[in-house]
Amino acid sequence: MSVAPAVNQRENEPHEWGAPLYAVALGIAVCSWALLGIVTRPAGQLAAFWPANALLLGLLVRYPAFATWQGWCAAIPGYLVADLLTGGSFLLTLYLTGANLAGVATGYILFQRVSEQDRRLTRPFSVLYLIVIVVLASAMAGFVGALIDPIVFGRSALGGWAFWFVTEMVNYVAFLPLMLTLPLDFKWNGGGVRKARLRPIFTIQRAARLLPGTAVLLSAIASLLLPGPGSVAFPVPALLWCAVTYGLFANAVLAFLFCAWTLLAISTGYLHVAVDIGSREDLLSLRAGVTLVALAPLVVATVMASRNELVARLQRLATHDYLTGLLNRTGFYTHVQDTLPRLARSKLPVAILMIDIDHFKMINDRHSHAAGDLVLAAVAQAMRSSVRTGDALGRLGGEEFCVFLEDVADGSPEAMAARICDTVSATRVTLPDGTEIATTVSVGVALANEAPTDISGLVAGADIALYRAKDQGRNRYEVLNFN
Ligand code: GH3
Ligand code: MG
Ligand code: MG
Repeated sequence: MSVAPAVNQRENEPHEWGAPLYAVALGIAVCSWALLGIVTRPAGQLAAFWPANALLLGLLVRYPAFATWQGWCAAIPGYLVADLLTGGSFLLTLYLTGANLAGVATGYILFQRVSEQDRRLTRPFSVLYLIVIVVLASAMAGFVGALIDPIVFGRSALGGWAFWFVTEMVNYVAFLPLMLTLPLDFKWNGGGVRKARLRPIFTIQRAARLLPGTAVLLSAIASLLLPGPGSVAFPVPALLWCAVTYGLFANAVLAFLFCAWTLLAISTGYLHVAVDIGSREDLLSLRAGVTLVALAPLVVATVMASRNELVARLQRLATHDYLTGLLNRTGFYTHVQDTLPRLARSKLPVAILMIDIDHFKMINDRHSHAAGDLVLAAVAQAMRSSVRTGDALGRLGGEEFCVFLEDVADGSPEAMAARICDTVSATRVTLPDGTEIATTVSVGVALANEAPTDISGLVAGADIALYRAKDQGRNRYEVLNFN
């Protein structure tokens, strides 16, 4: 077996538990997965359902905190104990463990050569890499494992290799995506599990999202009711619908269920496909075929995942300002225009604060444009710390900023304007040559006792108030009542 790499620093590091505790957890997990495979295997045969190798490989790739030399060593007793507990002979067990780990190690080494995104199946080519890795890992397990086939099972070495290869591939394809796409970025020392947000239990949109899953179920039932060789493919269109609707993990689960259900339904005779399941060749071909069919929706799901990520990135770029990270003009106006009609219907008060840096041109002229950019970023940060969560804060252009307050209590916009003036005037920007720059802002506040449906009047009001503040000496705020 190949030598395990040293502690991987990519994620889940540093951790309090330390490598030995992770290794113990890994050993127990491998033992349980192997037991699951053993109890479902036909007597005297290798297990067709063998989740241990794929789940172990997935665990090591997805959570590198387990991929220490201790972790690799703990996997060996994990396999051995499971087999010995169920009456396996020691030498045979040791040999089979070597074959299992040869496949896992091959897969692990190859996964280290692809990007983090590909390891998580979030790129269009990820499934292609997955297939190549799975084929090579299965082939390696087959090479080692098949050598013993002629002695133990009386099969030809080539026949043994083919059996190992297909069985390993089916298991890798069925189980590996589950682990690689698991939406759980846990840190056992920090509790990094995402917190669930409270949402309404039933909405039309949520009910509509169940439709593709329901279609898979109905097409699976239809394949039982309308027997024939083609019925295996009945759920495929519904699975593709799921691929464009659900996330990666949900699709990995569906691909697994499709494989498991189809192969089980065929072997128990519920699904008639006119295949001689007594023939080893037909059985292997069927297993490989069903597994490869299940990969198709997964390919679509990975393409969708990368497309969704791209759309989200572009959306952020289109609505945020690069220099300050605040909303840009489009993002700010879109947010306010989307919010105003609801507030107008409820006749709630709103306020807008227009903020402009004082004598900013002088800072640029005196210290350089780059220094001006640093001041802009520092002022944005000072304002961010002066507004409340939920207030929309944007850079409308140049050195002008705007805050939209939708939860307005008596005096709160004025208090916020004063807080912004104070925080900015206390801020110091230190240039690389050690020069310190101080700056101030002027603020125009426009108050509306009842929210209008359009933002433009409020902005114009805040602008008038801002110019009053400038006229009256700067570093101050002025208020204008809109209605
Ligand atoms: P006032 O107190 O009256 O607002 O004076 P001011 O100098 O701040 O106003 P003015 O509108 O004359 O100057 C604004 C300057 O902001 C002019 C422009 O060069 C500068 N500016 C606009 N965008 C940027 C930017 O992204 N980076 C930098 N460094 N400067 C910018
Ligand atoms: Mg200006
Ligand atoms: Mg200015």
